Amino acid sequence: MDDIAVDAFDDSDLEASFHSALSLLGISGYSVSASFKPFSSVRHKASVNRLRMRIDAEVSDAFRLATREALMGLALDLCARLFRKKVDSEYVRAFREFSKKGSLFRLSDSMRQVRARKRRDNAGGVAHDLTEVGRAVMEKYRGVLMLQKMPAVYWNDKGGKRTLAFYDRAFDAVLVSRIFDSERVPCFILEYLCFHEFLHSKYKPLYERGKSMRVIVHSTAFRNDERKFEQYDETEEWLKRNVRRL
Ligand SMILES: [Zn+2]
Repeated sequence: MDDIAVDAFDDSDLEASFHSALSLLGISGYSVSASFKPFSSVRHKASVNRLRMRIDAEVSDAFRLATREALMGLALDLCARLFRKKVDSEYVRAFREFSKKGSLFRLSDSMRQVRARKRRDNAGGVAHDLTEVGRAVMEKYRGVLMLQKMPAVYWNDKGGKRTLAFYDRAFDAVLVSRIFDSERVPCFILEYLCFHEFLHSKYKPLYERGKSMRVIVHSTAFRNDERKFEQYDETEEWLKRNVRRL
């Protein structure tokens, strides 16, 4: 595979983006304090103190998983507003594109849901208890997953048939579509969904080398591990046949 593994962006990456943005705008001498915040929706704020020549910024942590271009565009957009400058750049377009993407809104949506869930535990279902399923998977596949801690697992009432399950890295939580909370769903299907999403906790997204900066979430290593699921073929077959009937 021609991939490089990178961590999600941290505050120092964010500050570096602000410094680059300022220099692109021809502004110098400012210090920057920027950090990611778990905003409940995707929004950002920035302020400037001209006397102290200091910029403070807070950015939604959904952007930890953005591309470098999008992060740069975000910093450029915020700085341009602060200094009332017009910018038209590839970076800002990448930022707008990333902000538009369904994935981002799903992510921020899931953040809101997970927060709501902290008040009201939503792991136990009518037919299946996801915490129990998760524990069984952690036990059975300990050697494959190699996770220190089990991600939280919740039912997702808004999942429907399009998003069967997903992993929310910001909260280390898995959300499984409520359509699977049925007696007609065999336990191994839930185990598979947990196993797949737990693998996302193990494998950080990969950025493709070169210009495209495409994010790869299912790498070859990921797929190889996934095949270690005991009922792998059976699961694929079952999902193909039954999901539309749930
Ligand atoms: Zn996946």
